[in-house]
Amino acid sequence: MILILSVEGIFPSGRITFITAILVLYEDILKYMKAALYEAELAYNSGEIPIGAVVVKDGRIIGRGHNRSEALKDPTAHAEIISITAASNSVDDKYLDDCSIFITVEPCIMCAGAILLSRIKNLYFGAFEPKYGACGSLHNLIENNVYNRKINVISGIMEEECGSLLKKFFVERRTTDQE
Ligand SMILES: [Zn+2]
Repeated sequence: MILILSVEGIFPSGRITFITAILVLYEDILKYMKAALYEAELAYNSGEIPIGAVVVKDGRIIGRGHNRSEALKDPTAHAEIISITAASNSVDDKYLDDCSIFITVEPCIMCAGAILLSRIKNLYFGAFEPKYGACGSLHNLIENNVYNRKINVISGIMEEECGSLLKKFFVERRTTDQE
């Protein structure tokens, strides 16, 4: 439903064009979320909490990242921060207007703050994060932001795949801790 609203103004010419546009748009969204999920798998394979993100501008991925907090011994090395830094380097600008970010899991407060400061336009995420999520779960920093900035938030994209990778990681970690 959110997707339909987002393209309504762009394709007002006819029902078929309108539906085709939704399908193409949704196909693109899945493509980028799969790229984010690939990043999450890289994190998983390195023993990191499996979260991945990509930043997209004009149909091109300009920044990729996955959680590297353990490897870098850095609590700020989240997928979103790494992908935003890469994207900013790529466009040589601290602002990412007209960019979208795709994240496998709902961002935390730090990453939601970084997304706001980066001026990213659209935020897509997969699974909700009830403990730390700052986009509707624990907080709603993006939609109720103090900067009066409009960022479109679309949640639940490939929710099952994104969430199950995270669950698998924590189940395995608990089992290892008990051994
Ligand atoms: Zn974060």
